[in-house]
Amino acid sequence: MLTSTLELLETARRHIYAIGAFNVYNLEGVQAVVRAAEASHSPAMLQIHPSALKYGGTSLVALCLEAARTATVPIAVHLDHSTSSKAIHQALAAGMTSVMADGSHLSYPENLAFTREMTQLAHAQGAVVEAEIGRISGTEDGLSVSEKEAKMTDPVQATEFVRLTKVDALAVTIGNVHGEYKSEPRLDFDRLIRIRQNLGEGTLLVLHGASGLPASMISKSIELGVCKFNVNTEVRQAYMKMLGDDVCAAPGADLLPCMDEAIAAMQQVITEKLQLFGSQNKAHFHQGFREQTMSLPLLPLTKMDERHKGLLPSTAANYWS
Ligand SMILES: [Zn+2]
Repeated sequence: MLTSTLELLETARRHIYAIGAFNVYNLEGVQAVVRAAEASHSPAMLQIHPSALKYGGTSLVALCLEAARTATVPIAVHLDHSTSSKAIHQALAAGMTSVMADGSHLSYPENLAFTREMTQLAHAQGAVVEAEIGRISGTEDGLSVSEKEAKMTDPVQATEFVRLTKVDALAVTIGNVHGEYKSEPRLDFDRLIRIRQNLGEGTLLVLHGASGLPASMISKSIELGVCKFNVNTEVRQAYMKMLGDDVCAAPGADLLPCMDEAIAAMQQVITEKLQLFGSQNKAHFHQGFREQTMSLPLLPLTKMDERHKGLLPSTAANYWS
């Protein structure tokens, strides 16, 4: 079923797991996400990057929305990394209710002004907004940010940014990168703790560049409040690898068997991620347990570990077991 990003993230945060948001470009990608989520009884998000929106247009949006509506698990549809108002206007007009206004390439005052304007626009139409402060290095869909240009999220600035822009979710940069990690990933968890403490319980935290992060870093991030991970690279690689494989490249290869293999390859990666994020078998939290979820207390940071160890009563107590 089509659901809102806010519902997905709020519920995940209260139950201490995270939502996987997967970039899709075509029918095969959408099928892979929905099949993985349904088979895992997990919520998930379909993400359209502006370059994919440019490629697929409103037909791609309609495909995602329809796939979400007819899925047996909760699925939200989100516009990723929009650096201009054009894609946001287009996405909202096409029926999307979740957008990322990405002003991270701008100076701080310009990012603030851009994000505030886009948030007002989106909120007026009932849409949810994710924004970014700091800047993630790496390459995604032709957009490259060098390590030199990258900037970690400043916890103090983040607090002001969220207060002034009124965004719903914040993408943080704590050492995460887009694309492949060139060396062992190193995340600055002390920074994440300070961001969380400064922002308080109200803000939903997002981590981009989850492809290639080890399980220990994923679970630590979730413990510290991250409730959405963006995954792109590993799913794309699975797709591209299959196109060069026997089923797709051998003489006599045909389209449908090739696409089936490509979907299966992507589905496998997505399934592994849903498991890592702890969202497997959590679909029912988003369906019949809404009231129960909203009554769950958001624990202060110091109590998080205790809840994970099952020392506090929680519907999430079995998550790590
Ligand atoms: Zn990203």
